[in-house]
Amino acid sequence: MATRAPARQQKAQKAQKQGKTEIRQQKRKRDQEDLQKLEAAVADLDPKSTELKTFAELPLSQPTTSGLKASHFQTLTDVQQRAIPLGLKHSDILGAAKTGSGKTLAFLVPVLERLYRAQWTEFDGLGALIISPTRELAVQIFEVLRKIGRYHAFSAGLVIGGKSLKEEAERLSRMNILVCTPGRMLQHLDQTAGFDADNLQVLVLDEADRIMDMGFQSAVDALVEHLPKTRQTLMFSATQSKKVSDLARLSLKDPEYVSVHQDATSATPTNLQQHYITTPLPDKLDTLYGFIKSNLKSKIIVFLSSGKQVRFVYESFRHLQPGIPLLHLHGRQKQVARLEITSRFTAAKQSCLFATDVVARGIDFPAVDWVIQADCPEDVDTYIHRVGRTARYQSNGRAVLFLDPSEEAGMIKRLE
Ligand code: ADP
Ligand code: MG
Repeated sequence: MATRAPARQQKAQKAQKQGKTEIRQQKRKRDQEDLQKLEAAVADLDPKSTELKTFAELPLSQPTTSGLKASHFQTLTDVQQRAIPLGLKHSDILGAAKTGSGKTLAFLVPVLERLYRAQWTEFDGLGALIISPTRELAVQIFEVLRKIGRYHAFSAGLVIGGKSLKEEAERLSRMNILVCTPGRMLQHLDQTAGFDADNLQVLVLDEADRIMDMGFQSAVDALVEHLPKTRQTLMFSATQSKKVSDLARLSLKDPEYVSVHQDATSATPTNLQQHYITTPLPDKLDTLYGFIKSNLKSKIIVFLSSGKQVRFVYESFRHLQPGIPLLHLHGRQKQVARLEITSRFTAAKQSCLFATDVVARGIDFPAVDWVIQADCPEDVDTYIHRVGRTARYQSNGRAVLFLDPSEEAGMIKRLE
């Protein structure tokens, strides 16, 4: 008896094991079939079709579909409708669409799908690299990625500095998807042993024109040197400037141009009301203070031309205690402080944020009521990006531009 029982047990265990293996094999077979079906559906997809209205109609993997659903994304925006099918078919893309039009998902969905369909695992290394001009925007992209990618098994990381190079480096080699700022990423590629991007499938540049404006050209050129030539490249901007097409030197292959607006005038959201106030320079701060006092129940961003201006106005107004929480944000602050302020402003119902253009690009603050440009923007592009912080995707927003009487005629003509 004593010897038989274990034998029986062994037999039962063996059978159980066999059963498990069988189940696993069956599952693998099913997964393979699903994958083949998905590939076939992508092959059948007509990227020029205008019929597609929802994410559900796209050939997407189960984890992406579930992640989008859980994040309450249903209907495709114009740029998503045009860019995602192309992205799924591995085309290179040069995309231009106004701020708030949903460009982030237009590249994140193809990134996730590319790696999923390649059955990317932790052993395959870095599969996708997403470059952002600012740390704040990188954080925001990363958060959207985490949201819609929550059912995928990929590892994803942020490389934006602020931590020691060594600390960052240790986690780097395990990452499948990285969101980074150009300078920091280059440091790692140059210095971090055992980390390479030889396997990279997709490179994304968000706010591509801005990356170049901010003097990152040489960093990006050097970065690209480290990347394989056979990758897919996706570039997105709010404005399709000449500079963006310069980026052809990023060796885009027959890029598809996706542009969902014709010119700068229509580059501002339609649900945006735009105003301007003429105020002589000496009265500007009084006018601004008066404006804030009469809009205490709102969320306001005030753009100023320099970090010094931001600090000055913030400190002066703080002492006056206007009755609305004041925040300030500029490039000189430590990264931790900047991120903390960004998230506080995001969470706030009523707040007034004084900022430089560091935050003007790409960052999505939900429900901003007013964008005030207390200092005249340098050019029309900057204007568009600044006012793009309000009236994001189907919410209403208002923008006010403060002009000195001497600036009035010229600026209004240019903005028209
Ligand atoms: P852009 O990069 O073009 O400026 P974002 O990608 O930051 O725009 O998106 C702007 C806002 O629109 C975000 O709050 C985002 O959550 C929302 N959004 C994007 N796509 C959709 C969609 N398909 N349905 C609903 N909301 C969306
Ligand atoms: Mg964006």
